[in-house]
Amino acid sequence: MDAANRGGTIAGVGRIALPPSHIPLHICRCPAVTESARPALARPAFSIHRRRALIGAAGLLAQPAMLGLLHAKPSPPAPTVWPQALQVPGGVARLSLGPAATRPVAQVRQGDVDVPLRVVGDTIEWTAIVGIPLAAAPGDAFITVLADGGGSPRLVHYAVAHKQYKEQHLKVSPRTVDLSPEDQARYERERDHQAQVMAAFTEQPGGVALPSPRMRVPVPGRRSSSFGLRRVFNGQPRNPHSGMDIAAPTGTPIVAPLPGRVIDVGDYFFNGGTVWLDHGQGLLSMYCHLSSMDVRVGDVVSLGQAFCKVGATGRVTGPHLHWGVMLNRTMVDPALFL
Ligand SMILES: [Zn+2]
Repeated sequence: MDAANRGGTIAGVGRIALPPSHIPLHICRCPAVTESARPALARPAFSIHRRRALIGAAGLLAQPAMLGLLHAKPSPPAPTVWPQALQVPGGVARLSLGPAATRPVAQVRQGDVDVPLRVVGDTIEWTAIVGIPLAAAPGDAFITVLADGGGSPRLVHYAVAHKQYKEQHLKVSPRTVDLSPEDQARYERERDHQAQVMAAFTEQPGGVALPSPRMRVPVPGRRSSSFGLRRVFNGQPRNPHSGMDIAAPTGTPIVAPLPGRVIDVGDYFFNGGTVWLDHGQGLLSMYCHLSSMDVRVGDVVSLGQAFCKVGATGRVTGPHLHWGVMLNRTMVDPALFL
């Protein structure tokens, strides 16, 4: 990782915040309600079958423009497991570890630390669920599976494919890019605190099967597909957007997409009002720019329980939820869990 990715001083620019890519403290000028996000907004799946029914009913079959729709690419098949596998930066690898009497212990090397991995399944087949960092280089990668009883660990390989995320260039007032020394100090304190939060790994009993973590959408609203969007402010690259923005009015209740335990509640410089949930085995989710946080650290929330509200706190352009999902301390695309 080079200096530009660590945050700090850039020649000629002064102190600016450049959080490391695995730390989701970003300048969330989330384009949930601006022009840049509009073409990329998620739309409901629209099957060919339904198109035919609609077109037929409207008597529009003779119109060439509408006929073109019939040849449109069909929607991809609905997922049957969650998260879906997508072996690209910011995606998820599902790696079979085979049968074992108890859940194997698997880990991945990130920087100079071994980070434990989520392992799901049962005695017939265990699967490691690996979050792939947005900064990962395409090519070969591997995880390590520790042997029961202290034998030599084995490596499980997988390949990371290239994915070209969109890039967004913005010219903004330098004051909003360069942090004052006070803000910079605050940001650095918060970054260290967030790194501790993100290291949460709650073990589950070894023989117990974990449910497939299909998530519920935490708040209704237009969803941007801006995960991975690379932002460049005044020519200075920032970390890619590491979550999903959902546009909703301030005060809209946000519900837990899975059962979880509250592991952090705070008000942060970039992220504003923020809550983190721990769903077990390194699967965490974060909710940012909140106007209200109706839980405390240690609280347990059930699936669908309202626990905070949409707002516009922190560095934002308007009210929306910034929703992040993390596996093995790595922000991955929340859409893979829906
Ligand atoms: Zn965002």
